[in-house]
Amino acid sequence: MRLTRYFLPVLKENPAEAQIVSHRFMLRAGMIKQQAAGIYSWLPLGYRVLRRIEQIVHEEQQRAGHIPLLMPTLQPADLWRESGRYDDYGQEMLRIKDRHERDMLYGPTNEEMITDIFRANVSSYKDLPLTLYHIQWKFRDEMRPRFGVMRGREFLMKDGYNFDLDRDAALHAYNRHMVSYLRTYERMGLTAIPMRAASGPIGGDNTHEFLVLASTGESEVFYDDRVTALKLGAREIDYDDRAQVAKVCEEFTTLYARTDETHDGAVFDQVPEAHRKVARGIEVGQIFYFGTKYSEAMGATVTTPDGAKVPVEMGSHGIGVSRLLGAIIEASHDEKGIIWPEGVTPFPVGIVNLKQGDAAADAACEALEKALLAKGLEPLYDDRDERAGAKFATMDLIGLPWRITVGPRGLANGVVELTSRRTGESEEMSPEAAVAKVAEIYAAHP
Ligand code: ATP
Ligand code: MG
Repeated sequence: MRLTRYFLPVLKENPAEAQIVSHRFMLRAGMIKQQAAGIYSWLPLGYRVLRRIEQIVHEEQQRAGHIPLLMPTLQPADLWRESGRYDDYGQEMLRIKDRHERDMLYGPTNEEMITDIFRANVSSYKDLPLTLYHIQWKFRDEMRPRFGVMRGREFLMKDGYNFDLDRDAALHAYNRHMVSYLRTYERMGLTAIPMRAASGPIGGDNTHEFLVLASTGESEVFYDDRVTALKLGAREIDYDDRAQVAKVCEEFTTLYARTDETHDGAVFDQVPEAHRKVARGIEVGQIFYFGTKYSEAMGATVTTPDGAKVPVEMGSHGIGVSRLLGAIIEASHDEKGIIWPEGVTPFPVGIVNLKQGDAAADAACEALEKALLAKGLEPLYDDRDERAGAKFATMDLIGLPWRITVGPRGLANGVVELTSRRTGESEEMSPEAAVAKVAEIYAAHP
């Protein structure tokens, strides 16, 4: 992509309304535009990252055997009357009447609708286990929308729902979600710690939240800091292997890690003092096992192998897809701007032409662009007629992890410069070597 043909409305000034760094950088980097409190347009650069995050979520859900579908944003109120939540949900629910005076709502979550889909189509244990999920916009009329996409009113969520015959199978689904989430966040360059949580309006007692440590987080968290060193890494997971999946969950949930809602001072005091940490965190996901709460209320039953009819066991599992952009930036930035992890970056590499209009520099940049595209790596080429300083400032702000700088002086010696956004370190090499090195880096981040 050529910057002169792109739409990247960067701001030079710090927007006054942004209180936290991720919100400030998202506005300055031209990623989002607020349209109403907590409601945003996703400008091209922000949209690219959002799509990338969605893609990782899809890949990891499907790797775990979960099946995508798409439910609507608008829902009939009657479904929610069946579960009793239409009245319980309160002012966070945006209620709408259609032209026939029918009560509708903009979905804040989808337990009722997925249970309705299930009961209309499944009636036998033979069709279980089943986990369906979607990535869809939600609306919650939050009392205090703030921090940009972090606490929006309209926001993008992945929500998945498991249907199982018995409690053990449902707990396996819960564990499967936990492991798939660990891998999802790691691919985004994040350490998200599963913490025991309280359940709120979804119901149920088995629940973990995933928290990214950040001083601007809204939750207070208490943890044994050895938990931050745990990594899933490249290990193979067989998602059908209940024992293996349970063992990974045990590994990640044994050390103390809780939010203020479930914090227990007496237990926390048993953590060696040197490892006891109190900090703040951003909730980027939550998993729940709630059994038959919705299936009983809504009559979603299945026949068992011995012919009995039982309400299906369920759980629901969410990832804050749009909130993740904010969380990633909170966890990865410096004073100049964003530092995207390779897994989610909007473009893998930027090309900066130090002397636009110089025949050799222009030709070398175009050749680099072609060579990178041929490897499936679309660069953002800053081909503006601007000073080098302004080009570097834009690249640093938008945070592409790698930059190739091309100028007449280097080209005279047959070299360009490859620079890491994270470390600031540069290395001179031939254009071919730079392309090969960038390709090698991204081969490790599929
Ligand atoms: P919170 O406690 O932050 O209000 P929640 O517990 O009500 O969130 P869930 O129902 O667990 O939210 O939704 C799943 C995920 O969706 C959350 O873990 C969070 O990452 C994301 N999310 C929830 N509310 C918002 C919001 N207003 N804006 C952006 N993302 C949100
Ligand atoms: Mg939650």
